[in-house]
Formats: sequence, C-alpha cells, structure tokens
Amino acid sequence: MNAPSASRPTTVVAANDSKSIVLTPSVPLHETVAQALPSETITGHPGKTGNGAKISSKPSKLTKAQRKAEARCAATIRQYRAGKAKDFHNLVAACYEVQRDELYCDYPTQAAYFKAEFDLSRSASLRLAQMGKILDRLSPIGDIAALLPADSHVRPLLTLTEEQQDAVLTKVSGWKKVANLLTTPSKLILAARTFLYPPSGPRDEKDTAKTALAAKFIGAVENAKSKLSSNVGTEVVQVFEKLFQTVKDIGAAILRSTGIAWTQKTWNPLHGCTRASSGCDNCYAARQTATRLADLYPGLAVKKTTAAGTITYAFTGKIQLAPEDLAEPLLDHDPKMIFVNSMSDLFHKDVPEEFIDDVFTVMELAHWHVFQVVTKRPERQAQYTQKRYADKAPPNNIWLATSTEDQAAYDERIPHLRNTKAAIRWLSVEPLLGPIDFGSMDGIDWVVVGGESGHNARPMAKAWATDIRDACKTAGAPFFFKQWGAFGEQGHKAKKIKHSGPATLDGVVHHEYPKR
Ligand code: SF4
Repeated sequence: MNAPSASRPTTVVAANDSKSIVLTPSVPLHETVAQALPSETITGHPGKTGNGAKISSKPSKLTKAQRKAEARCAATIRQYRAGKAKDFHNLVAACYEVQRDELYCDYPTQAAYFKAEFDLSRSASLRLAQMGKILDRLSPIGDIAALLPADSHVRPLLTLTEEQQDAVLTKVSGWKKVANLLTTPSKLILAARTFLYPPSGPRDEKDTAKTALAAKFIGAVENAKSKLSSNVGTEVVQVFEKLFQTVKDIGAAILRSTGIAWTQKTWNPLHGCTRASSGCDNCYAARQTATRLADLYPGLAVKKTTAAGTITYAFTGKIQLAPEDLAEPLLDHDPKMIFVNSMSDLFHKDVPEEFIDDVFTVMELAHWHVFQVVTKRPERQAQYTQKRYADKAPPNNIWLATSTEDQAAYDERIPHLRNTKAAIRWLSVEPLLGPIDFGSMDGIDWVVVGGESGHNARPMAKAWATDIRDACKTAGAPFFFKQWGAFGEQGHKAKKIKHSGPATLDGVVHHEYPKR
C-alpha cells in the first residue's frame, strides 16, 4: 500500500475545546482520530494550508458509529493495498460501504477521500465501489464468492443493468452445468455477457483497416496484372503470375493465425472426439490433444503403440465443452474465415444439442465472419439444420461440410450433406486415401482436397486428386488443393515437408472459394 495521506504531510486537527492533536503522515487520519478523541470533539474536514498541509477546520460530519465503520473499511482497504489481505470481496464491500454510507463525507468528494487515504484514482475507486454494490445485490443468490471470485469476473457486469446482470449469471450457471465445470473461469462471464449482448458488427477500425489494407494490396497488383499489354512475352507474364500469387498469399497471411491454407483462424468451443472412420486413424487433433495440449485437456486423448511398434494417438471419446470460448468470434471484429472445431466434431453424439444451439447462435450473430464447419457425422448435421432452418433460410456466412476420405465414406455421407440446410455445402476430402467418383456434383458448392501428413501418413495418388479437380471443373464447382501431405506429387515420402509457398497440382495453385 502507498503511504497513507501522502499529500498530507502534517495535518492539524483542532478540537472544539482546548484539545488539539498533530497527526503524522505515518498514522492514518481515521485511526488516530478514532483512537485519540471522543466522537463529539473530532474535527476533521480536510482543508489545505498554503504549503499544502491539510488543516481540519470544520467539525467532522461523521457520527461515532460512522467513524468506526470508516476505520474498519479503511483498514480493510489498506490491508489489501499493502498485499496483506487477498479477499477481493472484502475489499469491494469496504469500498461500497464507504460510498453507500457516505463515510467519505469529511472530504469534498468520494474521489478525494480515496485519493487522499489510499492513493486510489477516481476511476479505480468508483469501479471498486460499483463492484461491491453488484456483489452486495447478488449475494442472496447463493455462493457468489465462488461464482464471481475476482475483479476480472465482476468487470464484465459493470456496465449492465441489474436485469442484464441476472441474465448473464443465469447463462453462466447453465453453461457450468452443461459443461460440468466446477469453477468459474473469468472468461465465462465475459463470454455470457458477449453472447447475450453482442456487438452488432465489426467495430474496431484498426482491425478493419488491416483487412482493407490487405485487400487494397492484392487489388493493386491484380489491377496492374490486368493492364499488361498482350505483346509482353511469356516470361513477363509468368513473372507477373508469380508475383500476383505471392501478393495474394501475403495478403491472406496477414489475417491468418493458422497453418490451414483454406481458412484464417480456428475456433474450438469444444474438445475431444471418437474415431469415426479410417480418415481418423492419424487424427491431428488427437495427436495434439495427447501431446502438446495434454495438460490442458487431460484424459481426452491417449498415445498408443500398435503390435508392430507404431506409435499412434487416439481420442478416448470424452467430450469437454468450452463455453468460455463461445464468444471468441464475437470479440474478434476483423472479418475472417473461421474453421469451427478443428480439434473435435461439433456433431459428435455426446455434444448436447443446447450447446450446438449456442454455437450456431454465435455464428449467426457474428455475421461478419464466414464459419467453416466440418463433420464426419453429417447425418446429425442434416437433422439439426433441417430443424433449425425449417422456416427460414440458412445464413450466408455458415458453410457446412462433411469430411470424406474414400469412396465408401463418400457414398455414405454425401446423401446427408445434400440433405443439409446450408448456404454453402462443401466437401473436405482430407486425407484423400483412395479414388472417389463423385457421380453428380449436385448440392456440392466447394471441394477441398489434401494428402495426409505426419509419421504414419498414407499416400495420396496424384490421379485421385486430379480426377476430383477435373470433376469440379466440369461441374463449375470451386476447387481448393491444400497440400500433398507426406508424399509429394511423385509419390515419394519426404523426410521433411518443405513449405515453399502454396501446393500446386500440375504446376497450378488451386485456391478457389465459393462465391459469397
Ligand atoms: S472426426 Fe475428426 S476430430 Fe474426430 S477423430 Fe475423426 S478426424 Fe479426429
């Protein structure tokens, strides 16, 4: 804590009889006064002498009981400021009591009291008192100390009405129940607040300026390319093509926070999964969850050694919901393409429908982003969207896919994708493990193809990828070739995959997207 009354080097308190005492800076005003004088004789309204010293020339407005209360509150606040006490609830309760009962009234204002006594700024003291008021009002609802244990928990409630605060806490309790959370992460309060009272659109000018700059950068080169004279040689055209692609990649990279080429960001409001088919055998999410993220998500994935001595990773089937991350897209004001659940499957049978509802609500509210959902459970996705969009059009910004690795998976899943209600229905053909004859491309608005990477990666024949590319071309469907995986174009397993720009198929980068 700061020395009390630092701006009060010497304060003279004049009693209304012959008594007077001199207060030294090391002794807080209220404590000294409370101990030294009977209430009736206390004077203490601070004024200032010409040299800055405060002189109490007016009688204190505090009654004896109030002085005791003020001394108690001040002691609590000082203990906390000095790091000798940790209970946030006691601190804000003391600040609120000072405000509510006007225990500061010997000072011109509440802010002056907090500044002089505790060196607290106006905004900090008002905020603490406001937090105390909120907790005081909410205390009858139960164990409020467990629900809102710290400053960061109460902060998101500060600007809300009482009705809104109640709604946020109801939502938080609901999420805690559905996610089986024993504690309350502070992010959960902010998530509930943002979920219930979301921004109406991207607001941060700085972020949108970044997006605009990237678009301008790409547009300028595209424009220059379009103006190339038809007389320029092939070499110049090729150089320009390369430059254009580089600029596009740089532009996309400005906004990307993931290595996945067809998206810009991942969002994981849940974790954990179960093997659905052979495409899951070397699941990247299971590997990450069992290794790098094992401390964060214990028990969700395990390392296994096969009889042949091969190390694999697999999910255990346990699902962990992360409602505290639900509002993430709403807090990101920079429009992006967001891959939903890169570390799990939203339509896994153990994900409660009410939670899927909340994920869809966020995707609808954050209309400035495009959400790319991929599932290996397209039947549930179809049923869900049929119900959710039974009497309204599905929003343009939610693109729903099924993942398929070979003909058998395609044949089983494609009818469900076609039965899904979505503005964009697409196929994630990753890892491509065998030839797939698409038959009709009806109901498929976009196709992404990629080979498998990692230690146990299985090869992808070039013809499988080119067949799909050709089918897309014939049908006029946009095609995105993501990567070769561990095996290159020639089918040789590389020791280390080199990342030297986007992957090409027959020398061409295919990075097409559906029209929005
Ligand atoms: S469905 Fe997806 S997340 Fe789940 S195990 Fe299979 S590949 Fe992994």
